[in-house]
Amino acid sequence: MHFRPALGVYSRLGTMGILGRVVGVQGARIGIPRSMFHHSESTLAYAFLEAMGASPVLSPPTNRRILERGVSLATDENCLPMKIHLGHVDAIASSVDRVLVPRYASQEAGHDDTCVKMWAAHDITRNVFPDLDVVGYDVDTRFGSDERGAMIRFGRELGVSRAAARRAWRTADERRTSERRAAQAEQEKLLETDTGRPRVLVVGHRYILDDDLMGRPTLSCLGKQDVTVLRSDRVDIQRSRELTKALSPTMKWVYNQEQVGAILALRERIDGIVMLVSFPCGPDSLCAELVQRRISEVPVCVIVLDELTGTGGLHTRLESFCDIVKMRYVA
Ligand code: SF4
Repeated sequence: MHFRPALGVYSRLGTMGILGRVVGVQGARIGIPRSMFHHSESTLAYAFLEAMGASPVLSPPTNRRILERGVSLATDENCLPMKIHLGHVDAIASSVDRVLVPRYASQEAGHDDTCVKMWAAHDITRNVFPDLDVVGYDVDTRFGSDERGAMIRFGRELGVSRAAARRAWRTADERRTSERRAAQAEQEKLLETDTGRPRVLVVGHRYILDDDLMGRPTLSCLGKQDVTVLRSDRVDIQRSRELTKALSPTMKWVYNQEQVGAILALRERIDGIVMLVSFPCGPDSLCAELVQRRISEVPVCVIVLDELTGTGGLHTRLESFCDIVKMRYVA
């Protein structure tokens, strides 16, 4: 059984935050926090707003100040990406007319959900910043609101015609698809090249891998270890989601399905796995446990990230892990 807030919390099915108002979009500075959904759907949201005549503004890359501000604004039980998200909203709030935080609950009919923090990101943002104009759209296919429809309705509420909103969506979707394909093709090329170095797959949410404080330090450290670095988010998403059923037919969270599926897709072609898990994330910890118990042919290193994670200990762990991977590779 699925929970959905009673209608009336949202202005109408599939659109939220604007509460029925029609507001101007031409030249409006709409902030996009460089966090959570931004990393999964950054191109889409940015290109969509731009194509409708708005001026999207990205918050700066994550830094210590953004992290500390987010930690001070969030309650303790929030996961690290949510804390960082609040820091990003705070960083951008004073320089834009409104901030975009959509709700991604279920992106594709027939597939499972994101997670409760993703469901609540829009409402949490509004609660933490009651004076800020937080706008968004509601993607929840379980209730008939797919991404395309939700974004076109959102465009309508921003004041553009249906035809213009449709055109903007098409442009944005094409750009997203071509970027994803290019990233996947690049990784596939890397897999086909014999570099003579072991391959390490880094597994994590895109909003962790692409974050300057969460995932980038790991990617950059591994990049200096004489190994070929691969990423779980550069494997075909649909294939990953299907493959994951072989290991866990009941895994509910779609982003974690993609991660486990990426491991299964590449298990014959990799020499080690580094999993980035954010604290305190239930889906991540269960997923890490599953992989450690069921994937035995390659070494697995699980790194738990929280606001206190420092780079010193991280480098030592990754260097030691790569030494093991290299020894096995030679042997
Ligand atoms: S999956 Fe985990 S890390 Fe990601 S938003 Fe949900 S609780 Fe946070």
